[in-house]
Amino acid sequence: MENFSLEQYLKYLQYLVNFDNGSMNAKGVARVADFFKEKFEEGPWKCELITIEGAPVGPCLKVSNTPDDDYDVLLLGHMDTALPDGEAEKRPYTIDENGIVRGVGVSDMKGCLLSTYFALAELSNEHRLDHAKVCFLLNCDEETGSRYSGPTLRKIAKHAKHVIVVEAARKTGDMVKERSGVADYHLHATGVSAHAGVNPQDGSSAINELAEWIVRLHKLSNYAVGTSVNVGIIKGGKGSNVVAPEADADVDVRFKTQAEFDRVNNAIRELEKQSFTPGGAKVTAEYRPNRPPMPCTEKTQKLADLISKLGKEQGLSFGWVATGGGSDGNITADMGIPTVDGVGPVGAGGHSAAEWLDSKSVEPRMRLLKSTIAYLCDHPDF
Ligand SMILES: [Zn+2]
Repeated sequence: MENFSLEQYLKYLQYLVNFDNGSMNAKGVARVADFFKEKFEEGPWKCELITIEGAPVGPCLKVSNTPDDDYDVLLLGHMDTALPDGEAEKRPYTIDENGIVRGVGVSDMKGCLLSTYFALAELSNEHRLDHAKVCFLLNCDEETGSRYSGPTLRKIAKHAKHVIVVEAARKTGDMVKERSGVADYHLHATGVSAHAGVNPQDGSSAINELAEWIVRLHKLSNYAVGTSVNVGIIKGGKGSNVVAPEADADVDVRFKTQAEFDRVNNAIRELEKQSFTPGGAKVTAEYRPNRPPMPCTEKTQKLADLISKLGKEQGLSFGWVATGGGSDGNITADMGIPTVDGVGPVGAGGHSAAEWLDSKSVEPRMRLLKSTIAYLCDHPDF
């Protein structure tokens, strides 16, 4: 396999970001999977394309050097982007004089998949993984909350000793040791329709009922402990002269502990039992679980400390942060596996036209990832 060179890395990155592969673009995701499959198969890696039956998404790619599943390290990344078709054409790959790369998925996270590829390629070239058990799972639909791939991920991760999510480091260079849990609710309000001028008293407004909920829901936020409740979308009504028979809303809840989730969920269930609008308009809340929290356990802290120490030896200094965004790390942390995230190169602005990756950070972060993998493989009792 080839050793790292920034020139080759950027050449591959340019290829990968210049086509679309949102989560629901199965063909585009398969194209990313094929690229990495071909690359890894040049070395001692066994690649498996895992299609998820009945799901409208591309395949996952499992890359591993062992038939066993008690991996010393499981590396997690995702191939899909959060952006729709047409985006890659609108803003193709560019690199400026400061080495800042722009394009769809440069940091979230095709550039991170590539640096992980080079770390593993160099390690296998140096025969440092000959007796180690390593798996790199490239997820197909992480940006949907791993809606279809979640069970596959859980199955593969089951006996892993450590998980490293190779998402980009924060723009400050910091890595991630804690993530909030995410839950979504869909609210559906039903009321009684009536003419707003002729007989409004016979109606019961679904919009009014939903509005009563929205005010109460936002008050459930407690930023001091990391809980936020956000009604992000509202829709409803038939016309300004009609008492609204229906209205809908989508709610995003972030929380750091199960207790906080329970508090919010219980409050929502209590609201459901009531009606605030004369005439009996009601709201039902459909719970759509998304991601459990990724807490920083003692073992996670130990893993973070190891990476900081190895970083220091290589002249890199960075901190560790908690973030409200979710990743597949939430799933493996929920399984009790020490999990860290943000170990990739430095970048930010994912999910937007402002996305960037600092190409100067690629090699140092790749070297740190490489030494972290090697350390964990050499110290199975860590
Ligand atoms: Zn991502």
